[in-house]
Amino acid sequence: MEKVVSLCKRRGFVYPASEIYGGLNSCWDFGPLGVELKRNVRDAWWRAMVRERDDVVGLDSAILQHPRVWEASGHVANFSDPLVDCTKCKKRFRADHIGVPYQSANGAWLHPETGAPMEESEARAMLATKKCPECEGALTPPRRFNLMFQTFLGAVVEDAARVYLRPETAQGIFTNFVNVLNSSRKKPPFGIAQIGKSFRNEITPGNFVFRTREFEQGEMEFFVPPADGEKWFDYWRKERFAWYSKFGVRPSKLRLRDHAKDELAHYSSGCSDVEYQYPFGWGELEGIANRTDFDLKQHAQHSGKDLSFFDEESKTRYVPHVIEPAAGIDRAALTFIVDAYEETTVKDEARVVLHLHPKIAPVTAAVFPLVKKEGMPEKASEIEKELRANFATVIEANASIGKRYARQDEIGTPFCITVDGQTMQDDTVTLRDRDTLIQDRVKTGELRAALDAKIRDWKRVDSVG
Ligand code: ATP
Repeated sequence: MEKVVSLCKRRGFVYPASEIYGGLNSCWDFGPLGVELKRNVRDAWWRAMVRERDDVVGLDSAILQHPRVWEASGHVANFSDPLVDCTKCKKRFRADHIGVPYQSANGAWLHPETGAPMEESEARAMLATKKCPECEGALTPPRRFNLMFQTFLGAVVEDAARVYLRPETAQGIFTNFVNVLNSSRKKPPFGIAQIGKSFRNEITPGNFVFRTREFEQGEMEFFVPPADGEKWFDYWRKERFAWYSKFGVRPSKLRLRDHAKDELAHYSSGCSDVEYQYPFGWGELEGIANRTDFDLKQHAQHSGKDLSFFDEESKTRYVPHVIEPAAGIDRAALTFIVDAYEETTVKDEARVVLHLHPKIAPVTAAVFPLVKKEGMPEKASEIEKELRANFATVIEANASIGKRYARQDEIGTPFCITVDGQTMQDDTVTLRDRDTLIQDRVKTGELRAALDAKIRDWKRVDSVG
C-alpha cells in the first residue's frame, strides 16, 4: 500500500490536499493522471449503467437538499456512529470497534460485538472496565455522532437555515421519481442513475482514498413492481460483480458477500457487498441493496405527495420496490490501481507496471520519436495529433527508449508507438504492448484500427502470477 501511495504522489495520481499548509486530515486531491483515471472510471460506470441500456436514465441532483429530505430518509435520526474519546491521549474511537457498549438512536444499550440489546446496568459495568486501547487512559461515555456535515443556507446562522451536505446521492433520485416518470415516459422496471460527491464526517477515515470525508459515488435506483424485487436484486448483484472483472480486476481478489439477516437495515430485504482484498484486508467496494418501498413511502408520507405508479396495462397502482447498486468512484479508482500494480524484473531490470485496462488507463498511447532529429519529432507529433481525436495520447521525446517505456509502464500506458529510421522510409512504426512486451510493425494509416482492435480484445496478462 505504501508503494502505491508513493507512486500515486510521485507520478501525479493523488496528492495530499492543502499539502503546502501541512495537509488536511484524510483529504486528497487528484493530480493530472488521477483525474484522467477517475474520469475513465466514471465514464465506464455511466456507459454500463446508462448509455448501453434502454431502461436507465441519468440525473444530476443538488448536493444541498431541503432539510426535510434527511428527516424522511432517516439520516437525521439514524445516520450516526457511537464514539468515545480518550481523556488522556485525546484519541477518538468508534465504540463498537474497541469493544465498548453504546446506545442506539432510540436510547437502548447495545452490545459492541453482537449489536444485541443489553441491560443498562450490565452495559455500564462493562463500560467501567474499558480503558483506551492505545494508552489505557479513561474513556468518555459513548455518545452518538451524526455523520452529516451541517452548514447554513444564506447569511443567518440559525436552526431554521440549517442544511446538510448530502451523505449519499440516492435521496435526490427518490425526490425526483415523479419528475422523471412524467418527463421521460419510462415505467417500471426502470432506473435513475447519478454520479456525484457525497460527504460524511467519518470518525475514522483512512487507508488513503478508501475512506475519506468527501468522496464520489455512482448510485442507481432501479424501480420495479413489488413482486419482481428479488429477481432484480439478483440480476443487479451479478451484473455489478461482473463489471469490476470486465475492467481488469482479478476475480481471485473479488468476492460477493451476502449480508446476514441481522446485518440488514430494518427497511432492507437483502444486501450484498462486492468486496476486494486490499493489502489492509477485505473491504467493501460496492453495496447492492433491496430497499423495498421504504424510501418512496417515507417521502410520500413526509411530503404529502403521491409517489406511487399507475400501471395502465394492468390498471393497478403500486409503490415500486427499489434495487440500489451504490458504488464509490474513488474507491473503484483506488482498487483499479492497487490491483494493477506489479513489481517484476525483465532481463535483470526492475520493472513496475500498472496492468490497467486500456479504458481505465490515464494515457492510452504514448508516441516516441527515437531520436530528436531526421524529421522524427515532426513525424511523431503528426501521428500523435492524428490519434488525439480518439485516444488519450502523449508525446515523449526525452531519455532513452528503455527509460521512456519504463515511465509509461509505471503509469499503466498500454501502448507505446515509436517513430524510427524505418518510419521515414516506409511509413511504419513499432507498436509495443505493455503486458506482452510484443512489438508489431504497423502502417501509420492503420494505427487507429490496430489500437481499436487491441482495446476491444484486451485481456489481463501479468508478468508474474
Ligand atoms: P462503509 O461500510 O465502508 O462505511 P457503507 O456501507 O456506509 O460503507 P454505502 O452507504 O453503501 O457505504 O455507500 C456506497 C459506496 O460508497 C461504498 O461501497 C463505497 O464504495 C462508497 N463510500 C461510502 N463511504 C465512503 C467514504 N467515506 N469514502 C469513500 N467511499 C465511500
